[in-house]
Amino acid sequence: ALLGDAAHPMRPYLAQGAGMAIEDAQALAQCLSVGNAMVPEQLQAYAQARWARNARVQARAIRNGRIFHAQGAVALGRNLSMRLMGERLMDVPWLYAGGSEVHGFNGNAL
Ligand SMILES: Cc1cc2nc3c(=O)[nH]c(=O)nc-3n(C[C@H](O)[C@H](O)[C@H](O)COP(=O)(O)OP(=O)(O)OC[C@H]3O[C@@H](n4cnc5c(N)ncnc54)[C@H](O)[C@@H]3O)c2cc1C
Repeated sequence: ALLGDAAHPMRPYLAQGAGMAIEDAQALAQCLSVGNAMVPEQLQAYAQARWARNARVQARAIRNGRIFHAQGAVALGRNLSMRLMGERLMDVPWLYAGGSEVHGFNGNAL
C-alpha cells in the first residue's frame, strides 16, 4: 500500500501533506485489522476509503496556490475579498471534520 506523499504528494497551500499521511495511516490500520478479510481486500478497502478525500485536498491546495500567487486584477479581487470576509474565506469545515469513515466488507463502518 502507498500512503502519504508517496501516494498523493500535496502542494503546500493547504498545509495538509502530513495531515493526510496520518489519516491514511489510521485508515490503513483499521482496514488491516479486519480479521476475516484477505489482505488484497483489506488494501482495496483502504484505497477506496482514502482516494476521494485525498483528491479533494489536493485540488483545494492547487486552487489555493493559484489564488495565493495571483497577479493583477485577480490579486486585487483576492485582497478585497480577504478584507471583507477575513478568515471565513479560508475556512474549510469539511477538511477539519476529519476523514471519511472506513467501511468493512459488509458496508458497516469499522
Ligand atoms: C517546509 C515544509 C512544511 C510543511 N508543512 C506542513 C504542514 O504545516 N502541515 C502538513 O500537514 N504538512 C506539511 N508539510 C508536508 C509534510 O511534511 C509531508 O506531507 C509529510 O511529511 C509526508 O509524510 P510521509 O510519511 O508520506 O513522507 P516523509 O515524511 O517524506 O517520510 C518518508 C520517509 O522515508 C524515508 N525514506 C525514503 N527513501 C527511503 C528508502 N529507500 N529506505 C528507507 N527509508 C526511506 C525518508 O528518509 C523519510 O523519513 C510540510 C512540508 C515541508 C517540506
